[in-house]
Amino acid sequence: MCAGLRTAGAHRVSEMLFGRRTSFDYLECADCMSVQIAAAPADLASYYPAGYYSYDSTRVGLFKRMRQGLRCNLVLFAPAPVSAWAAGGKSDILYPLLRKAGVKRASRILDIGCGGGALLRGLARAGLPHLLGADPYIEADIETPEGVKLVKRSVHEVRGQFDLIMFNHSLEHVPSPAADLAAARELLAEDGCCLVRIPLVGSFAWREYGIHWYGLDAPRHLALPSRQGMGQVATRSGFRVEEVIFDSTAMQFMASELYRRDIPLAQLTPEHFTKREVAEFRRRARALNAAHDGDQGAFLLRRN
Ligand SMILES: [Zn+2]
Repeated sequence: MCAGLRTAGAHRVSEMLFGRRTSFDYLECADCMSVQIAAAPADLASYYPAGYYSYDSTRVGLFKRMRQGLRCNLVLFAPAPVSAWAAGGKSDILYPLLRKAGVKRASRILDIGCGGGALLRGLARAGLPHLLGADPYIEADIETPEGVKLVKRSVHEVRGQFDLIMFNHSLEHVPSPAADLAAARELLAEDGCCLVRIPLVGSFAWREYGIHWYGLDAPRHLALPSRQGMGQVATRSGFRVEEVIFDSTAMQFMASELYRRDIPLAQLTPEHFTKREVAEFRRRARALNAAHDGDQGAFLLRRN
């Protein structure tokens, strides 16, 4: 992240999303506290099985489609009070983030690491016409039922110019985030915005749970920045950080608690936590976000 070469030690982390429990060393940077996997496994693709959630491309019912489209429109384009009302209470803050990023109906939007294209499909239902998804790990180029093109490419292979480029929890999955950010910068219009949503090392959940922290997600997450490291990698890639919004959720507690008890997330059932506990996790996540100590952040980057 910061291009530093000194390590402050290693952390041995097990695969716990599916419960394979193979373990991997993560090296911590002595300068910016970011961590990265010492060596990605040769069979990394096998850690993205067919049921991996981001590739879910199931069709969505008509009522839900209409509701999603309406909500997206209100949050993005309605006057501020209406926008805030439509965004209220929803855990996913993508649409408010896009509003902050200055998205217009005519904006050309690129989603890097789009998986099954769920986010773009939501935007397409809201009537945004210029959408492209890229993901080197999808099976082949496809067009979604909404007409959104998803191409089997990395950011280095995409051509064109875009007003918004998003890395929605995808930058932590690439071996060289600085190179990928620099490539995105080349594709960004002069006044465009690059949105990076990513887990953050050094946050409360990392300090509290250590190697059991959900955000590590070994071995799929190859490099994870600290708040400081994210600023440094952005600067090195030709960006300045315009704003950071902390958007951590109850998952930082639920999943990390399970991992600490040696229970894979795939085995989570409603019996593991009471409603009261989940409500408390949500309250604590909101408090951490307000204190800028949540375990994930959204970085709005502008060209330097
Ligand atoms: Zn560093």
